[in-house]
Amino acid sequence: YAAKRNHLGVARYEPSLDEHSTARLAVVSELRRAIDHGELVLHYQPKAVTCSGAICGVEALARWQHPRRGLLGPGEFIPAAEENGLIGSLTRYVLSSALRQCHAWLMDGCTMPVSVNVGAQCLLDPTFPDQVAGLLDRHQVPPHMLTLEITESAIVADPARANLVLGELADSGVSLSIDDFGTGYSSIAYLQSMRVHEMKLDRLFVTELCSNPRNNAIVRTLLELAHAFELQVVAEGVEDGETWAALAELGCGIVQGFYLSKPLPADEFAAWLQQDGSRAHTRLAEL
Ligand code: C2E
Ligand code: MG
Ligand code: MG
Ligand code: MG
Repeated sequence: YAAKRNHLGVARYEPSLDEHSTARLAVVSELRRAIDHGELVLHYQPKAVTCSGAICGVEALARWQHPRRGLLGPGEFIPAAEENGLIGSLTRYVLSSALRQCHAWLMDGCTMPVSVNVGAQCLLDPTFPDQVAGLLDRHQVPPHMLTLEITESAIVADPARANLVLGELADSGVSLSIDDFGTGYSSIAYLQSMRVHEMKLDRLFVTELCSNPRNNAIVRTLLELAHAFELQVVAEGVEDGETWAALAELGCGIVQGFYLSKPLPADEFAAWLQQDGSRAHTRLAEL
């Protein structure tokens, strides 16, 4: 039977856990199928240079085109993949699709750097840098076209091991970005030893940048910190022109968010890029 300890450390029967483990088995086999049968798709969200509006890259975001449940967001399957030992193959699949797409864009004469999210477990896997190098090689994408977005949790879990993996990745020419910076556990100390290139300001701080003085203070401070470490800064969750303008004023180099575009399937992104993406001037005039 499934037992769970309450806050007093006393075990008690928890029927819901049994239900969960049945549900979990179903999720695991469904996710395996999804990875093997190409049900996972990537949507691409553009990023722009704050002061010019020029498109400078995309973030690849995983979606699951579920045969019955429709299009599922990452919150509905990434945690399950992490808990059930499937995150490794999921990440390889995502990396491979993103690099294949990046190569296709290159063949079309479009240089579009891609960012891929990588969970904690990959950064603790000593074979991960070789896997990444192998995929870059297979898809003929130069390493500087790839940025890996990492979260602080891996580094906190085992800083020495994570740093070894991050160092190897940096050596191979891949760029590293700290995602959702400031939302995890204390991370500032790690900036000293980690060879990261970019800091992503979490949506949590970017939202209400103009209306909430506390958010404004946090963003200012993080930008100062990033500049001291010569990190490029990307603000995520930019939903209006006012926030974009404020970020430009504060010296944040790159913006990403619904104001520019929501994440789009590759073909829609290509169409968007042709129509709206090249209109850097129009976009700035709207600010
Ligand atoms: P993230 O890396 O911080 O990605 C940004 C999230 O914010 C995306 O949600 C994106 O759609 C959303 N977003 C972008 N602009 C705006 C905006 O202006 N307003 C609002 N309200 N939201 C905005 P999404 O696609 O649901 O992804 C959620 C998280 O799932 C990601 O957060 C990332 O941590 C994780 N994730 C996504 N794809 C992958 C993947 O392939 N592997 C791993 N390990 N994690 C992934
Ligand atoms: Mg990200
Ligand atoms: Mg983020
Ligand atoms: Mg975020």
